[in-house]
Amino acid sequence: MNLTNSESALVLIVEDEAKLSALLDEYLTASNYRTLQVADGLDVVGLVRERTPDVILLDLMLPGRDGMDICRELRTFSNVPIIMMTARVEEVDRLLGLDAGADDYICKPYSPREVVARVKAILRRRGPVETSLPDHQSEGLVLEPTTMRASWNGMILDLTQFEWKLLAALMTSPGRIFSRSQLVDKLYDDGRSVTDRTIDSHIRNLRRKLESAVPEKELIRSVYGVGYSFEPDK
Ligand code: CA
Repeated sequence: MNLTNSESALVLIVEDEAKLSALLDEYLTASNYRTLQVADGLDVVGLVRERTPDVILLDLMLPGRDGMDICRELRTFSNVPIIMMTARVEEVDRLLGLDAGADDYICKPYSPREVVARVKAILRRRGPVETSLPDHQSEGLVLEPTTMRASWNGMILDLTQFEWKLLAALMTSPGRIFSRSQLVDKLYDDGRSVTDRTIDSHIRNLRRKLESAVPEKELIRSVYGVGYSFEPDK
C-alpha cells in the first residue's frame, strides 16, 4: 500500500437491534463501504481504538453502556465523525453539544437510505479518507512532495525521507490515531516486516526535530498502546 492508494471508508455500526444492524450493514456494503457491527456498548471504545473507523453510527440506547457516555469517551482521543441514532428527540441538543460531542444525529425510525446519505455527506465534508499527496500544509508546517522537504514558517526542517513520509502519512488525517501497523502499511510498500519499535524510533526522532523547531506545540501525539496522531491545534 502506498500513500496514494485510497480504500473505501470503514463504518462502525453500533446498534443492539440485530435486524436493524444487519439492514444498515447491507445498505452500507451495497454502497461500497467497509463495515463493522457491534451490539454491546462496552465493546465500542476498544474497537474504535483497534480499528480506527472513518465514521461511527452510534445508537443512543445500548446494553452495557449509554451511547452518550461512549461518545464522550471517544472524544477524549479521537475526532472520528460520530452520527448518533436516537428515538429521543429531546436529547439532540445534548448529543451535538459539548456534553457529548457527536457530529450529527438521525432520529429513529429512519430509512437505511437516509443513513447512507448522511454517512456520505459527513465523509464528503471531511474530505477523502486517504488523500493523495498534495502540498501538505498545516498553519506554518509545509511538506513539499516533489522535493520531500519540510519547513516550519519558511525554516527548513532537516527530516530524513522516512521521517518526511511518516509526517505526511499522519497529516493526511489530522486528529486520527494511526496504529503502528497502519503506518507500516503506508510507509513500506514492499511488504517487508517492520517492528513497532522501528516506527517508535522514527517517531521519536521526528518529534525531537519538530519540537526543536516548534517548541510551543506538540504536533505529534502519542496515544499509549494505540499509536500516533498529528494534532495541529494542540
Ligand atoms: Ca438500542
